[in-house]
Amino acid sequence: MNISQAIFDLKQSLPHEVTLIAVSKTKPIEDLVEAYKAGQLDFGENKIQEMVSKWEQLPKDIRWHMIGHVQTNKVKYMAPFVSLIHAIDSTKLLSEIQKQAEKNNRIIEGLIQVRIAQEETKYGLPIDEVEALLEFASRCKNVKIKGLMGMASLSENEIQIRSEFETISTLYFNLKPHHPSFTYLSMGMSGDYTIALQLGSNMIRVGSKLFGAR
Ligand SMILES: *Cc1c(COP(=O)(O)O)cnc(C)c1O
Repeated sequence: MNISQAIFDLKQSLPHEVTLIAVSKTKPIEDLVEAYKAGQLDFGENKIQEMVSKWEQLPKDIRWHMIGHVQTNKVKYMAPFVSLIHAIDSTKLLSEIQKQAEKNNRIIEGLIQVRIAQEETKYGLPIDEVEALLEFASRCKNVKIKGLMGMASLSENEIQIRSEFETISTLYFNLKPHHPSFTYLSMGMSGDYTIALQLGSNMIRVGSKLFGAR
């Protein structure tokens, strides 16, 4: 598997307004270096320690995306440098991000993770709680909510995946006129990003298609 070729091919096929996040979780530094040399600047990780360690070793113009579930007590380790936190789903987490952002004298950007998968999952906020969290976030001066993130069910059923993406897309485009900071609808992974793009995604998180199976 040639990482730079895979990145080149995928980027060629994407509309220019779509941000590609290369999901490099579990992959060795050499793989990230190869992607970086191919011009890739957005990387996604799902474990804070691993992201911190890679951040320390790699060039500082890389934008680091925390795409996994975040434990409140670990926010402080990424607060100095994280570019976008994709999985904000509680007032507790928001408050901690606010606190650590203020300590670091920064504004940290994030997305609200919405629960759209019909399969059982602990993560993500139920749709009907999103507006209340946005209201809370508007009082966190050092946090800027840039949009929504969602994960469809791990399923072969394209109709189901499509309907799950449609749910979050409708919510995103309904909220956007009232939330000027809304910029990103983060949905789509290796197996389902083409469907996500059809439903308005402008940020895809792709791992195995670029770096090979984990
Ligand atoms: C691992 C992961 C991805 C990438 O998955 P692939 O199937 O390897 O593309 C995307 N989003 C999240 C939240 C992930 O944890």
